Amino acid sequence: MSQNLPKGMGKTVAGLAVAVAAVACAGAVVVVSRRIRERGQRAKCLAILEEFRTACATPVSRLRQIVDALVVEMHAGLASDGGSRLKMLPSFVDVLPNGDEKGLYYALDLGGTNFRVLRVQLGGKEGRVIKQEYEEVSIPHRLMAASGQELFEYIAKELASFVNREGEGFRPHGNQKRELGFTFSFPVNQTAINSGTLVQWTKGFTCDGVPGKNVVQFLEEAMAKVGLQMKVTALVNDTVGTLAGGRYWNEDVMVAIILGTGTNACYVERADAINKWNGLLPRSNSMVINTEWGNFWSSHLPKTYADEGLDADSVNPGEQGFEKLISGMYMGDIVRRVLLKMAQEADIFGKPIAPKLMQPYTLSTPHMSKMHGDETHDLRNVAKVLKDAFNISGTSLTVRKIVYMVCEVVCERGGRLAAAGVVGILKKIGRDGTGAGAGGQPLSRSSSAKNVSSRPRRTVVAMDGGLYEHYGKFREYLQQATTELLGEEVAKNVLIELSKDGSGIGAALLAASHSPSQKNL
Ligand code: ADP
Ligand code: MG
Repeated sequence: MSQNLPKGMGKTVAGLAVAVAAVACAGAVVVVSRRIRERGQRAKCLAILEEFRTACATPVSRLRQIVDALVVEMHAGLASDGGSRLKMLPSFVDVLPNGDEKGLYYALDLGGTNFRVLRVQLGGKEGRVIKQEYEEVSIPHRLMAASGQELFEYIAKELASFVNREGEGFRPHGNQKRELGFTFSFPVNQTAINSGTLVQWTKGFTCDGVPGKNVVQFLEEAMAKVGLQMKVTALVNDTVGTLAGGRYWNEDVMVAIILGTGTNACYVERADAINKWNGLLPRSNSMVINTEWGNFWSSHLPKTYADEGLDADSVNPGEQGFEKLISGMYMGDIVRRVLLKMAQEADIFGKPIAPKLMQPYTLSTPHMSKMHGDETHDLRNVAKVLKDAFNISGTSLTVRKIVYMVCEVVCERGGRLAAAGVVGILKKIGRDGTGAGAGGQPLSRSSSAKNVSSRPRRTVVAMDGGLYEHYGKFREYLQQATTELLGEEVAKNVLIELSKDGSGIGAALLAASHSPSQKNL
């Protein structure tokens, strides 16, 4: 072939061929060495994953230790104020709605940047919820930092205008003054069913003059000022509202749990088990206890470097330990911290490390559940979330699989630990099948005889919150571990049910069940 080439070109072509071969060879070396490096990185990532998985393990034996630790803490919290990390707050709710309630009731639900107002016309056992209406009102940002009077006057004004639009089908019972159940989702020291002092503002509120004061008085004074004739009959925590909302429809509801941004649980306790209670014995001999279980801690709970970092960087280090393992505010960030370690130590996403991967809370729990729910063959939803949350693109399938597995480990741990919480409460009230404890009372005015029969008692756990509602795999792990802990037979009689937005109507129902006017119905 070279003889057809112009003079001198043969040498050039030959040289080129050598050069091409050399480049090809060097390319092969690059590819091979990259593969070796990638293999090394992958092995390192897998080692980090395995180490994390082991540290997060929740075998049933460990869950049982957590169940028992929770029961011990519940006893301690009931024995004395400050006796445990679990506050075990008496809610003063000693009568739960049972369906007999009649008349018109209002609810106000304040717990974030929006508040809800609601009215419901109750028609007793036959009529039940005859009619209900609600509205959501946003709180102007400046009011979150205004004085307490200004905040409550704004709320009272909005409530008054809602009351003025009370139309057909709503009417108070007889001469009944309009009554309100107030769901106030901030830490409160309850002093009666219809009064309590704010311990401190959270969630961005800083209104002057309210901490240490009775929030119901603030609301009632504001209502008087705007000319609204209404009485606050019940001040309740959202968990307690959820319990009431669930119980209205189903008398087997004994426990309510919120699994949303944060987590909390309440349940029906025997009055004589509340050793720290100095007040009058409740009418029903039972009372709803707000556990504030987000602050539960036990040395049996699995804690990793990711959890330690998250806690140290949080606004409340050393507090809300259980919440930091199982709730929606935090699980996504635990995943992010593991991925960051993989990026730093095993170069999982290449260099340089994406700035957003280093920034707390860039990966939300909804992001995590989207990745974890990815059923596509190439895990393209995982890729999309990595792009959206961290601006990381071009990930290989292997990398996506590793990311998926990190989500799986964090979700599995969270769901199973939440199950240990559920079973701990059931054990405390003797509904876990072990026969310990005497069991809660029906806690309604007309306690039915049904629960006395020999059939196994059903227990319903009312669940609310965006995490439980929207994260299917979390729900599955929770259910599966609950069944493992209880055993198939007992688990058949324990139902975990979604009780969506029960807390709003629950507060109105509690206003009804604690209303003086109900006595005469
Ligand atoms: P809150 O707890 O603030 O009152 P929600 O009960 O509505 O509000 O819960 C919202 C929380 O639920 C979010 O902060 C988020 O952590 C979690 N969440 C919402 N949607 C999802 C989802 N698709 N997957 C996982 N978690 C979710
Ligand atoms: Mg909520």
